[in-house]
Amino acid sequence: MSDVVGLLSGLLAGAPSLPGARCRGRGSLFDPPYRGENPDTTKARHAQALGLCGRCPAAERCRAWFDGLPKARRPRGVVAGQVVDGMTANVTFCGDCP
Ligand code: SF4
Repeated sequence: MSDVVGLLSGLLAGAPSLPGARCRGRGSLFDPPYRGENPDTTKARHAQALGLCGRCPAAERCRAWFDGLPKARRPRGVVAGQVVDGMTANVTFCGDCP
């Protein structure tokens, strides 16, 4: 399981610091669907993740970082108040996020 903040800071040079990030330590909520995961389970944990993004003090910086990444390097799962589906390139936005 990944931790979005750890992934960002560990793999990507120039990733922003994200003080107060609500995803820290909760990466399993943000991960893309696991192999064989019940779609309802995925939807439920992504809804929790989107709720955290919606109250995240780092959301604006996170979104700016995400938007600046080439599409091929954007992580899948919930990032910056969006559900990113790498297979279809679909993005679902969180209505409460900046
Ligand atoms: S907006 Fe979401 S993914 Fe970005 S730092 Fe905040 S909680 Fe994490």
